[in-house]
Amino acid sequence: MQVLKFGGTSVGKPERMHQVAQLITKDEHSKIVVLSALSGTTNALVSIGESLAKSDKEEAKSKIQALREHYATFIEALFSTSEKAQEAQKMIDEHFEFLLITLKISFNEALNRDILAQGELMSTKLFTLYLEEIGVSAKLLPALEFMRTNEEEEPDLDLISEKLKAILVKENDATIFITQGYICKNHKGEIDNLQRGGSDYTASLVGAAINATEIQIWTDIDGMHNNDPRVVDKTFPIAELSFDEAAELAYFGAKILHPASIWPAQKMGITVRLLNTMQPEAKGTVISTATTSDDVKALAAKDGITAIKIKSSRMLLAYGFLRKVFEIFEKYKTPIDMITTSEVAVSVTIDDNTYLNKILTELEKFGTVEVDKNQTIICVVGNFVAERKGVVNNIFEALTSIPIRMISYGGSRHNISLLTDEGSKVEALKKLNTHLFDL
Ligand code: ADP
Ligand code: ASP
Ligand code: MG
Repeated sequence: MQVLKFGGTSVGKPERMHQVAQLITKDEHSKIVVLSALSGTTNALVSIGESLAKSDKEEAKSKIQALREHYATFIEALFSTSEKAQEAQKMIDEHFEFLLITLKISFNEALNRDILAQGELMSTKLFTLYLEEIGVSAKLLPALEFMRTNEEEEPDLDLISEKLKAILVKENDATIFITQGYICKNHKGEIDNLQRGGSDYTASLVGAAINATEIQIWTDIDGMHNNDPRVVDKTFPIAELSFDEAAELAYFGAKILHPASIWPAQKMGITVRLLNTMQPEAKGTVISTATTSDDVKALAAKDGITAIKIKSSRMLLAYGFLRKVFEIFEKYKTPIDMITTSEVAVSVTIDDNTYLNKILTELEKFGTVEVDKNQTIICVVGNFVAERKGVVNNIFEALTSIPIRMISYGGSRHNISLLTDEGSKVEALKKLNTHLFDL
């Protein structure tokens, strides 16, 4: 069985949904199709939640109304029979009735996550109704019945696998299954999600759960490019990446993949293919165990980074000191991305400032603490064997005009990370593009 995930833009227009229907029916493979919400919907739902959080019911109501109109127009163009269009409208109305009820009840985080789940619930139901209209038999699998996170808010792959397999055993005559990306239930049984962009993660988890033959991520670009196409003009798709390289790129900002979406596929050794819905014949990117060359493959950048430097001439590098520092981050469930040390100081970066003040207060026990917000990690990914000379040189030659705050090399052979301020990101990515890829 294959897993095919279609992102927001791939289902964001009625004609795109028609095209997705063609793509999933062009061969006989059995498949689970994971869909995102229509593009713009999750942003709209986030925004509705924000209005409710500040008790601006009028604003929330008009945002709900605008979204409702968008769906009415979408339905008109999606269906060709009035019978299915009416059925779809009735279904959509129920979701909007729920959104309108949220105006009347007290708002909380659990309700907000329920609101955020509506996008994927609607897109998958619309698509299933469209498949019915064109005579394609498909079965809708409710993700909330098998996608689970545990107490650490991490997906529980064993439980997902157990639940999903039990559902599939009962449906042994269907070959096409449709399910929602992004949404899940948490250990308390509440509706939750896998964070923004989480449908990629769903696809990989579902693929791992059923040991799929392949996971395909269909999006609006022909694979992983060598640099961020939103920032740099000339970029090209990379034909092959190893799991490690793809995981680094996803984690360090390549938006095409959710940061955590590689490990489930990697764990089970399932090939992931990144493909373009708008250009299905393009080769895209194949992500697998194979390592192809010793070169620099791609660049990515992650914004919103905070750098923290702890200076302490007394204790630093005494054994046990780093453990004490890390324990503070562990206590506040705040992951560290980069680390550098010197005789008198240790610098780390984090991308989540939720507990920053508490962390700083505790770190101050160890010495002087300096904080720089609004930093960017520029990540150069490839297969850098130690014997290969000149890679680091090349990177620094490109960046002579860029202020560099931290450098991390040697943590893995796939990643060289540099920290600069957010304002220097665009120039750094452009200069590296020219210097490393002759573009
Ligand atoms: P989807 O809605 O299908 O999940 P996303 O918008 O999440 O799509 O991801 C695709 C987008 O990721 C592309 O349109 C592109 O702008 C952006 N992107 C950022 N970095 C890269 C990269 N290195 N390669 C390809 N796309 C990238
Ligand atoms: N709809 C969700 C989002 O916009 C999940 C996804 O598209 O992957 O973040
Ligand atoms: Mg995405």
